[in-house]
Amino acid sequence: MDSVIRNVRLIDGTGADPVQRVSVAISNGVVHWIGEETARPRTTVHQEDINGEGLNLIPGMIDCHEHFTGDGGMDSMERLLGDSHDTFTLKAVGNCRRAIMSGVTSARDVGARHAINILVAQQTASGAIMGPRIIASGEWFQFPGTWPPTLTRAMNTTEELVLGIREMIERGAGMIKVGATGFRPNGDQFASLGPAALDAAVRTAHEAGLKIAAHCHGYEGSRQAVEAGIDSVEHGTYLDEETCALMAQRGTYFVPTMSTWDARERLGALYGLTDDQRTDLAARKENSISSFKRALAAGVRIAAGTDAGGSPARHGFIARELELMVDSGMSPATALESATREGAELMGIQDLAGTIEVGKQADMVLIDGDPLSDIGALRNVWAVFQAGRRVR
Ligand SMILES: [Zn+2]
Repeated sequence: MDSVIRNVRLIDGTGADPVQRVSVAISNGVVHWIGEETARPRTTVHQEDINGEGLNLIPGMIDCHEHFTGDGGMDSMERLLGDSHDTFTLKAVGNCRRAIMSGVTSARDVGARHAINILVAQQTASGAIMGPRIIASGEWFQFPGTWPPTLTRAMNTTEELVLGIREMIERGAGMIKVGATGFRPNGDQFASLGPAALDAAVRTAHEAGLKIAAHCHGYEGSRQAVEAGIDSVEHGTYLDEETCALMAQRGTYFVPTMSTWDARERLGALYGLTDDQRTDLAARKENSISSFKRALAAGVRIAAGTDAGGSPARHGFIARELELMVDSGMSPATALESATREGAELMGIQDLAGTIEVGKQADMVLIDGDPLSDIGALRNVWAVFQAGRRVR
């Protein structure tokens, strides 16, 4: 299907200034021409012809931290622990649809029980279900005592961890995820995997050509993960200046998932939290914002991720994540790049997606409003194209 979007304001995601009134022509799923409408090459193929006047065209957005098998909401943890294999699978179908309708055309699924996310990634790619282009981790790994063992796969030794990672690679994982930190019952943080296991995990993933992400909610564990050469710090609720400087130097990505705390706070206001839960939440939210500001000041590469489904955050609200990043000091243009070009770099799909350029996949979103002056305009999705096919 060929199509053209005429006279649109183009924000191409490369960091260039927006261009007024250009036309973008799509052929065979790929952007094949960008320029002034009067210069557009004629074609004999019937095209879907969209008048883009008054609209902004941005690259398809990328959410680097989702769990499609979960819905989010206040009972997200109970559901992640209690839902059956079949329920997870059915929920993932709906959540993939929600994500793509919100303009998310690529995503990482960073952990699912039974590794259902690998199946989901394969079936969105094959077209059996509608959803973003997904890179999935399979199950994620930790040492005992970090998370409930039913949520992640608990490994007792470094040798077991390496075997588990190899199993995920064999089953088709496109990335690997480990948990580098945990909390003791009294709330103290601890570095759960430690340098030796982190080194082995990074080596195993990299030898297979895969990137590796680390779940990090602690100062020490985050630093150990970065030192071991992890590709992305997920959550990063507690990052000190030294770790941020090291991340900037090494090019380690930060996926801040600020929606996690925001969603819990908003839903908690409706459904009630105990005083202890409220105090704990306020502290974590504050730390998350401080860590984000530290990373931003240090020049750390930041990729947007919502933790939809793995926390009370829901699928389809990447706009909220970007609003939170802007509220914490990022410019709207940089926030948009974190959800497009930077996400593509972290996923390793920068040759396919992340910017609107001739020769790339036509993953694009038409927005009614200007996200560069009001990032919240990203809630107003008017059309979504995935590899040139209009899906909304
Ligand atoms: Zn998560």
